[in-house]
Amino acid sequence: MIGGESLEFEIRPNPAPVSAAERAALLANPGFGRVFTDHMVTIRYAEGKGWYDARVEARAPIPMDPATAVLHYAQEIFEGLKAYRVDDGLTMFRPDANARRFRESARRMAMPELPEQVFIDSLAALVEIDREWVPDDPDGSLYLRPFMFASEVFLGVKPSSEYLYLVIASPVGPYFKGGAVAPVTVWVSTDYTRAAPGGTGAAKCGGNYATSLVAQAEGIEHGCEQVVFLDAVERRYVDELGGMNVFFVFDDGSLVTPPLTGTILPGITRDAVIALAGEQGHEVREELYSFDQWRADAASGRLREVFACGTAAVLTPVGTVRSADGEFVIGDGGTGEVTSRLRRTLVDIQRGRVADTHGWVRRLP
Ligand SMILES: *Cc1c(COP(=O)(O)O)cnc(C)c1O
Repeated sequence: MIGGESLEFEIRPNPAPVSAAERAALLANPGFGRVFTDHMVTIRYAEGKGWYDARVEARAPIPMDPATAVLHYAQEIFEGLKAYRVDDGLTMFRPDANARRFRESARRMAMPELPEQVFIDSLAALVEIDREWVPDDPDGSLYLRPFMFASEVFLGVKPSSEYLYLVIASPVGPYFKGGAVAPVTVWVSTDYTRAAPGGTGAAKCGGNYATSLVAQAEGIEHGCEQVVFLDAVERRYVDELGGMNVFFVFDDGSLVTPPLTGTILPGITRDAVIALAGEQGHEVREELYSFDQWRADAASGRLREVFACGTAAVLTPVGTVRSADGEFVIGDGGTGEVTSRLRRTLVDIQRGRVADTHGWVRRLP
């Protein structure tokens, strides 16, 4: 069914699922990305045939020929979103936005575009069969990881003619222990860049992460939890963190975030924050902001708060900024009020504790 807008999933329940007692023990302290559910979704694609063999089956290793294209040329994309347990059922946050971004990433990487409805159906099918794995913990959630890679066995350099799409799921606890959001120290990388104009910065591909790891390691060596990348052309303007977008909050209540010029990932959390900040009376400007200006504004006190945002940690305050030239502190180095309020509003919407006036929350059957 080429370009089909929906697919039937064949359901093959795991014959040996984890026992209820063992699952409860795993859910008590799942951490992040180490515990996985009983099932996975797989869908195959072949040129001339389209998407086929959609299945929900036991989570298992995927045997691969050593000449599988992705292992050599990294044609791979992924997504990340969460399913939540709310009072009367299960929900996902903006899966349609992830579906659209997955198609856009595919296009950039010369991969076939999975129909958005199939993407959303694949998530719903996995959450349905693994619903017992969605944590009860009011701060927990089931992290969903859809991804797709080039599966053709061929060493020639060209877009693969075959692909495998999968979804796996991982229960996660509160990202921050005790629910308290501790400010992080960030390392501004002046040696490495993440994405250049015309490159893959706006695509959610594994390759972007591969290039970021050496800078992340450098940051960790300097006692920092996260890395901030500057633009690849002038090495002056803030792009984003390794896996999170960034916002600056000023003394007049306005917010600045780098614009989507193709070198940063268009975060869904970023988009939600822009909408919510506007509703809370903040002017939000999507404009270039240089590292020099950042340092000067922190020194003058004009800059009050900085936060990073993404699905995994929602909003993370930045307390200290470190680079090869030294360091400076944002405000008093603590968590700012604007950051706290935006975080609370977003989490309350995601968890069904306040009305979802944007149509962001998708209820699962
Ligand atoms: C996924 C990602 C983000 C955050 O996107 P969300 O949709 O908010 O989770 C930010 N930057 C990079 C590089 C990412 O890969």
